[in-house]
This record gives sequence, structure tokens and C-alpha cells, in this order.
Amino acid sequence: MTDLSTNRATPMGTWLRHDPELAKLLEEEATRQRTTLQLIASENFTSPAVLAATGSILTNKYAEGYPGRRYYGGNQVIDEVEDLARRRAMALFGAEHANVQPHAGAVANLAVYQALLEPGDTVLAMRLDQGGHLTHGSPASITSKIWRFVAYGVTPASNDSQHPGETIDFDQVAEVARRERPKLIVAGATAYPRQILADPFRQVADEVGARLMFDLAHPAGLVAAGVHPNPVALSDVVTFTTHKTLRGPRGGAIVCRAELAKQIDSAVFPGLQGGPLEHVVAAKAVAFGEAQQPEFRAYGAQVVANAQVLGESLAAEGFRLVSGGTENHLVLVDLRRFDEDLTGKVAQEVLDRAGITVNRNTIPDDPRSAFVTSGLRLGTAAETTAGMGPEQMRHIARLIGTALRRRHDDTELAAVRGEVAELCAGFVPYPELDGAREA
Ligand SMILES: *Cc1c(COP(=O)(O)O)cnc(C)c1O
Repeated sequence: MTDLSTNRATPMGTWLRHDPELAKLLEEEATRQRTTLQLIASENFTSPAVLAATGSILTNKYAEGYPGRRYYGGNQVIDEVEDLARRRAMALFGAEHANVQPHAGAVANLAVYQALLEPGDTVLAMRLDQGGHLTHGSPASITSKIWRFVAYGVTPASNDSQHPGETIDFDQVAEVARRERPKLIVAGATAYPRQILADPFRQVADEVGARLMFDLAHPAGLVAAGVHPNPVALSDVVTFTTHKTLRGPRGGAIVCRAELAKQIDSAVFPGLQGGPLEHVVAAKAVAFGEAQQPEFRAYGAQVVANAQVLGESLAAEGFRLVSGGTENHLVLVDLRRFDEDLTGKVAQEVLDRAGITVNRNTIPDDPRSAFVTSGLRLGTAAETTAGMGPEQMRHIARLIGTALRRRHDDTELAAVRGEVAELCAGFVPYPELDGAREA
């Protein structure tokens, strides 16, 4: 039986010995994270300091309200924690105001809509099947029931390698904006491999008198690292998640102009949430502090360099890359050129068996449903944190090609699984926790 006196899942793992049932599950998940490849583009490995803050006694405190204006007593220290997180967020993004309370990126987006719109108002955002997020007006999301969403998409794919297409169609953005007169334009995506510039969106927003919200959920860490341009000065509001490329705890945040501070704050609390998760706010402060360090700039640059090598190597295996490449932390793969019959769903399942964790994704003008899809999305943020570089990216692309070509051969898949485990053994995400175990 596993020795549960310490485990590799948390810096405070020893305390879980009183709950062997859960300790066992955490240990199993730690093993999964340590021995398989984490290529989900929205995931990362936080630092042990972020883990420690997330697991701290700050979870005990109710702190409805904001620093200096709380509804409950005893918040002297909590106020300082939240102020620290807000100050660091503002410094990191050069913003006039920060709200660090949103429990998730989805809540941050809802808060902005609630702050800036009346029910029924029109919002222009990216088409979901071309890279937009559920909170950008999916029929399945409450957002589409309260507000009226209209959409822009990407340009068609082309065979011209100089102009591969599948980038945001700004003619369409302008045309739909002029016709529909949105009150808010949303920039930002969840499955889009290119840089998104705020300037062309700002121009259209100014022309039609709309506000501009930049949903920076995915590339927030790349902006913090200085690898992507910062959209804060050109946007009215910027939302982001703290757990994707930014490498913090699971959660959301909003930065905005000072003039919108009050509206945004009231939309988060009491508009959408009760008490903030101050342990997570503390962990956000830790992550913002880490992102201010020079090492984080190098990290951001490596994430992008790794994604480019991964993309080129996957192309060499016969996969088509949506938009012909990548400028950020992710690649979107069109499986059809590699194998007409291979769906995203099957590819994801096969790769799971081979120890390679990815997600299926629609590609622009996907003939298959969102449940089946013709694409895969792969990101490099997590394995770059674990220390992987270009050599490992080339190796991973070969393993993916082999696993998917030989997907009906169990022996071959087992061999890939073994090679993956060997590769991962050289890039352990939490060596500190392994040390704690051995000590
Ligand atoms: C991930 C994501 C979100 C939502 O984040 P959650 O924390 O999962 O709620 C919102 N917008 C975009 C573009 C995203 O990629």
C-alpha cells in the first residue's frame, strides 16, 4: 500500500493521513500528472508557493465586500492580502484598477457584461466554432439568454503558404459592427493560435461607439511576460484567468480603467458572488509576484518557442496546422490531412491511452459536431514549466504521430506509453514534493 504519511500532491500532504480515502486519490492524480504529458492548452503547473497559499487558513475567512469596506469583522489581515493581490495585478498589467475576486474566468466575463450592459443589449464576439468561448454567447450559456450576441469569425483557409488564412476577419468585425451596432465588442478566444491585437478592435469600437472588452484568459501569462502586446491601454476592460499561461491558482480577475472601477466591483460583489475565496486571492498575489520576475519573461518566450517547434514537428508528421502555425502557447491541429477518418474524439481517446493528454477541438468550418470534431488543441504552457524544450517537443510530435498512425495496435500504444513515462521522468513538475516524501 502507498505510504500516505506524505504524498506528492500537496506541500501539506502529511495532513491528509487522517483521510486515506482522499489521500489515495490525490496520490493517484499526482502520479498521473507526473507520468503523462500535460498538453491541455488551458492548464499549467503552479508553483509550490501557489499550492501552499491555495491550501492555507485564509479559506476560513468571510470577507464579503472589498478592502476597507467589508461586511464582517476581523478582516484587517485579509484586506492587506487582497490589496497586495490588487496592487500586483495593476503593476503587472499597467492597469488603473483590479478586481481579483472572480471565482473563475467565466464569472469575470459575466461581471463585465453585467457592469456594462442592460439585458437585451447587443454584444459582438468571436464565433464559438472558430475559437470563441462559451461565455461569448453560446446557446448553452446564460450569456446568450440575457444578451443578444452577434459574431465575427476567421478568414477562409487557403493553400497559399504565405497567406494561410484562418486569422480574425477584421473586415467582418467592422461590417457586423456597423450593421448590428453592438454596445460591447469582445476580443479574445479560447482556441486561436495567433496573437490578437487590440488596435483593430479599438478602431471598430470607436467607430460604432462600443466599449471594448479584451478576454485575455489564455495569453495573460504571455502578456505578463512581455511576449504578447498588452491590450490594457486600448481596452475598456480586460478579463483573464489566473490558471492558464499565468500559472497561478484556478480563478479569474478583471482590470479596467479607474472610471469603471465601481461598476465592475459591484457587478462581481454583490452582483454575482458572495464571499471571495481569499486563499485563492492570496495565491493569485503569489502568482502575480512570480510573473513580475525576470525568469517569467524567459518562461513566456520558451512557451511560444516550444509551441512553434511542436507545430512544425506535427506538420512534418503530416498534420495540417490551423492558420499555418502559431504565435502563442497553442497549436490547433486539423486531423483530416493526416487521416480523413480520424476524428478529434478518437484521437483524444487514443492519445489518452498513450499517456498524452490533449483535448479535441473544432476547427474553423468543421464538418463534424463539437462533440466529435476534426481537430486537436495542444498547448505547451505546462510542460514548459516542467522544463521541457524544443528537443522534447520534437519527440512529443513523433510520439503523437506514431500513436495515431498505429492506433489499432495495442502493443504499439503501450510502447508509446512507456516512452512517454520515460520522457516525463526527466521533467517532474514538483521535485520539491518528491524530496519531501523521501526526507
Ligand atoms: C478559459 C476561458 C474562460 C473561462 O475561464 P474559466 O475559469 O474556465 O471559467 C473565458 N474566456 C476564455 C477565452 C477562456 O479561454
